[in-house]
Amino acid sequence: MRVARCWYSLPLTYAITLLACAILYASPALGAQSAFSVATDTITRRLMQRVSALSADSMEGRRAGTDGSRRARRWIVAELTAIGAKPIGASFEQTVKLPIRAGADTLGANIIARIPGRTNGGRTIVLSAHYDHLGVRNGVIYNGADDDASGCIALLTIAERLLREPPQHDVILAFFDNEEGGMHGSRTFVASPPVPLARIAIDLSLDMISRQDGKALWVTGTAHYPFLLPIAADAVKLATIAIRFGHESKTLTPGDDWTTSSDHAAFHAKGIPFLYLGVEDHPDYHQPGDDAEKIDPAFYRAAVEFSYTLLRTVDVRLETFPSRTP
Ligand SMILES: [Zn+2]
Repeated sequence: MRVARCWYSLPLTYAITLLACAILYASPALGAQSAFSVATDTITRRLMQRVSALSADSMEGRRAGTDGSRRARRWIVAELTAIGAKPIGASFEQTVKLPIRAGADTLGANIIARIPGRTNGGRTIVLSAHYDHLGVRNGVIYNGADDDASGCIALLTIAERLLREPPQHDVILAFFDNEEGGMHGSRTFVASPPVPLARIAIDLSLDMISRQDGKALWVTGTAHYPFLLPIAADAVKLATIAIRFGHESKTLTPGDDWTTSSDHAAFHAKGIPFLYLGVEDHPDYHQPGDDAEKIDPAFYRAAVEFSYTLLRTVDVRLETFPSRTP
């Protein structure tokens, strides 16, 4: 911004402006602050552009087995290819059998990519979100911006950073199909995993992370896997939004226990530890109003940042995880 202002200044004030810019950039503190604000704006803008694209009307609500779902899938694969992410085998797609439903195919697909770790071949982290949503009902499109385009774009954004700064362990990115219709994507993944389940140390599950209505991002999973609490607590020290632990007690009223509320349930059922990140339900939850315009950009950016910090914190502590008996 300051550079642009310098270049576009009027000739009479040019020298003064140039001098002011030179002083600003000569100061390390101000220079760093300036670079940070520009970067922050760029990252937030990019997050919002991508989440708007994936939750656009043209995706027709991304219901599993529909044209809108296939369009969303092509868009995600194009984004993965553009950032240099690679599939595990020949294709990014893992076929998912869908239940028979009117107006929809019986075949869908997960999208799976792998970011190689520096010590690859050992334990693996799964980072997951679901790209499907509710589709079109009575002519009304359910765009599912928060649920769960927000998680999918977090995966892409985190993947870009991991490709630049490789993690210690392999990270599998999983964009699941048909979470809304019975979690068939994540169930297929654990039934036919691209790497042996014994190698999967944890599922970090992101579903609805962009709305500030509840004023906090929740972390669920540490009551089931207490060894994860100090690890997650360390990541929380770097968070710039409120992080709360909970939503995982059987004593809660139905719906408030999030242990099985999204794709991490399939991993938990196999004894694979999970940490789920999500916000409280909001008035647009599963409503046509779950649009990108309702997302709080600053909260969303901070939630993605926390997700990245949590993944890196987990990555460096992965060898301390207790071993599992299959
Ligand atoms: Zn969801």
